[in-house]
Amino acid sequence: MPRDEDTDEEPDTMKCGDCETNMEVKRENRLGERVQIYTCPNCGQSLISLDDAVRIQRRFIKAIEEERTVVKIGNSIGVTFPRELKKIFKLGEKVKVRFDPDTMEVSVRLD
Ligand SMILES: [Zn+2]
Repeated sequence: MPRDEDTDEEPDTMKCGDCETNMEVKRENRLGERVQIYTCPNCGQSLISLDDAVRIQRRFIKAIEEERTVVKIGNSIGVTFPRELKKIFKLGEKVKVRFDPDTMEVSVRLD
């Protein structure tokens, strides 16, 4: 996407990444949220804004609290993650494990 001019213009204008045509904007309900849909009148490409995409995604990733059992993994101990987190944590990925002795809480954080 071209970034040659400082965009003081309203954020509603967007050029198609495929053919550079100005995209048309309309508001629609998608997955229960009112979002801005950008459609290219030339090639039919359509997009939603990143903010709207993040807002929709948040609704489908809810806070999780489940009882788990501490298990032995080799010489260590661990707990398995709820199934929903398979979408978020990938095998082999580095995480930071933190223990707070005041609250007895363990948190696992993606960097
Ligand atoms: Zn286009």
